[in-house]
Amino acid sequence: APGTAAKGKPRLLLMGQRRSGKSSISSVVFHKMPPNETLFLESTARIQKDAMHSFMDFQVWDFPGQLNFMDPSFDLDAIFGEIGALIWVIDAQDEYHEAINRLNSTILNIYPNYPNVNVEVFIHKVDGLSDDYKLDIQRDIMQRIQDELSDHGVENAPINFHLTSIYNHSIFEAFSKVIQKLIPHLPTLEALLNDLCRACRFEKAYLFDVLSKIYIATDSSPVDMPSYEICSDYIDVIVDVSEIYAWPRPPEYIQLLEGPPWNKKLEDQTACNDAESCIVLTDGKRPIMLREVNKYLALVAIMCEGSYEKMPSVTMNVESTVKGLTEVFNITRQRRE
Ligand code: GDP
Repeated sequence: APGTAAKGKPRLLLMGQRRSGKSSISSVVFHKMPPNETLFLESTARIQKDAMHSFMDFQVWDFPGQLNFMDPSFDLDAIFGEIGALIWVIDAQDEYHEAINRLNSTILNIYPNYPNVNVEVFIHKVDGLSDDYKLDIQRDIMQRIQDELSDHGVENAPINFHLTSIYNHSIFEAFSKVIQKLIPHLPTLEALLNDLCRACRFEKAYLFDVLSKIYIATDSSPVDMPSYEICSDYIDVIVDVSEIYAWPRPPEYIQLLEGPPWNKKLEDQTACNDAESCIVLTDGKRPIMLREVNKYLALVAIMCEGSYEKMPSVTMNVESTVKGLTEVFNITRQRRE
């Protein structure tokens, strides 16, 4: 059945015209490809179902391609019955009228039957465009979509707009906003992160999808790009370091570290299976901590100056937050099963 692989995961579908940047986006966000290398990517030619170790289920569809989406044999229910968000990529550096026509007809086709699908428009490749020009384009695109939809009697369809580029963090930020709308119990997760920040006097805490570095929740203090960038770079450091030092380990080590009692359940990862680290950044005086929550998610927080000395109490608070987060995810999972 469609979607069985995605059980319990929010599903995102990425669509848009050829060359709009879909393969680049998925390579940069989910496969750590440096943005410059996307110049040599083969364009998406078919439905791609990426098997990924991520918190979310993510698929890329080239559209329009050889698929005729309006063909009656095309199983709309299988596609839109389970997705949470449809991300539509528009190349802002190209002539975009045809892309908008396609998007409009897609929305008109799916909205009556699947009104809960969030449509997220990525106005993409905005690097190199001036801020004024970006906003002009966004206004123009919004207007064209709104006019067309209201001509067809569709008002208030859930359509959101994001200005994105693979050459900076805007693409990650946009994904974060998209995914947060799909997280059940988001307010509970946010409340847990708020409590943690208050108890430990953290400046900012993020719950990250480790593979993609998209954050799925954060505390209520405002998100600023530098803090997000620093936390996401820190994940890279930790992942690199654990790749270097953690693998390959000799069998006796694996036995020692992963044998009983630590190997009881994969889902129920407790302290020993998870990476824990804390470093003091050299460019500022603020330490940053990272703690794995489960196989997909990590908690990363910017601490304030001086809190490095209070590590025992910080660790205790972090442990109980991780426990709380895990409980929330267990509830979600049980509901879905
Ligand atoms: P697809 O056919 O939709 O999968 O498009 P591709 O991912 O193959 O991208 C087409 C071209 O757009 C490639 O040469 C990319 O390097 C380029 N591209 C993708 N994203 C961006 C971006 O954010 N900014 C710029 N300037 N170019 C981009």
